Amino acid sequence: MSLGLAQAYCVQAYIGLGGNLAGAAGNAADTVRWALAQLANHPSMALLAQSALYGSSPVDAGGADYVNAVACVATDLAPLDLLHALQTLENQAGRERPYRNAPRTLDLDLLLYGDCHMDSVELTIPHPRMAERAFVLQPLADIAPHLVNPQALAHLRLSQGIWPL
Ligand code: AMP
Repeated sequence: MSLGLAQAYCVQAYIGLGGNLAGAAGNAADTVRWALAQLANHPSMALLAQSALYGSSPVDAGGADYVNAVACVATDLAPLDLLHALQTLENQAGRERPYRNAPRTLDLDLLLYGDCHMDSVELTIPHPRMAERAFVLQPLADIAPHLVNPQALAHLRLSQGIWPL
């Protein structure tokens, strides 16, 4: 895709990145940085913004602390095609799914896709749990403060560990 040519047809999407296992790209922080580079180099995406990297305590899961970030991309991919592109990156990073909420090398969540609201078997947008997670809202607030309620984030931070890396 030529993003210059197709800009009028592009949508801004927000992607949550996280992981807590070493994989092909290195440790969890290396893997998140690798994924950000893949988004930047993807032929159907332009990376518009990326947050700082954060450490976070596992929520609804065990295992090591997580590394998280949020990215904003412009894309001409349809929502499901974007989800599949993200899943391809997860697989390239060595993602395995032995059980629900298992530790992972890379998790890529499609948080927001323009002002799209959809709920299908494969994809729900906005991401159904994003508003409950400090590890999503804190990095999202870095790059899109207008999308985050600061009081809600402050409240989540009382019960969920998150720190800048
Ligand atoms: P996991 O990667 O284990 O967190 O779960 C991904 C699953 O959630 C996949 O089966 C997706 O089809 C589904 N899913 C539903 N909505 C979303 C979304 N907004 N972003 C990422 N995965 C989603």
